[in-house]
Amino acid sequence: MARTYNNTLEMNSYQKEQAETLSMVCRHLATLSRSEIQQLERQIGDYVSFRNEVQTFLSENFSKICDHKCYRSRLNACCSREGIITFFADAVINALLSQDEDLEALITVLQKPNDGFKCIFLGDEGCLWQFKPIVCEMFLCDPAQKEAFDKNPEARQRWEDFRQREKSYRWPDRPVLFDKLEQYFIDAGYSSPLMYLHNSPGLLRVKRRAGLNEYQKK
Ligand code: SF4
Repeated sequence: MARTYNNTLEMNSYQKEQAETLSMVCRHLATLSRSEIQQLERQIGDYVSFRNEVQTFLSENFSKICDHKCYRSRLNACCSREGIITFFADAVINALLSQDEDLEALITVLQKPNDGFKCIFLGDEGCLWQFKPIVCEMFLCDPAQKEAFDKNPEARQRWEDFRQREKSYRWPDRPVLFDKLEQYFIDAGYSSPLMYLHNSPGLLRVKRRAGLNEYQKK
């Protein structure tokens, strides 16, 4: 399993943050028993099904509109920014669903200097995440939405429904998967700047307002 990186001089702080989190997640997962891993896999099962539904929807409605020329021409904001928001849970879920060589490829690309014109996770064949971050999955640029939805209001409604469902995994106005995965690693003694549900003032405020300041066990 990918666990180490050694080219810190070439990496900017964003790359280091991502690489450290990814390495830490892999290190901890490597210490877990098969049954503990299966428990985590069960915990993310509903979310994975949700993401598969989103994928099907996107390929039915957007595959003709979007292709990777989009990021090559830098016309799309999606993959042409150096930094995107990745949640700690994104890293955990991706690691659970990746093979060792996929994780090695992610660590390797993070060690390459980045010119700032493309996402640090973009390889020659596209995104190197096996299960890309939720922010990327749910991003549709305005021109693509217009083209797909103006002639298909039902699809627009379905997309809005997906956006609502997405919140139920990561928006902490109730106990959510992304919060629980962070807590799982915090309980094991880890911390990461990507644990936004535990360190973002805005998200902590959402939790407090919902009476969830303390981690809510099911
Ligand atoms: S993580 Fe992947 S999908 Fe998201 S912006 Fe980067 S290359 Fe694109």
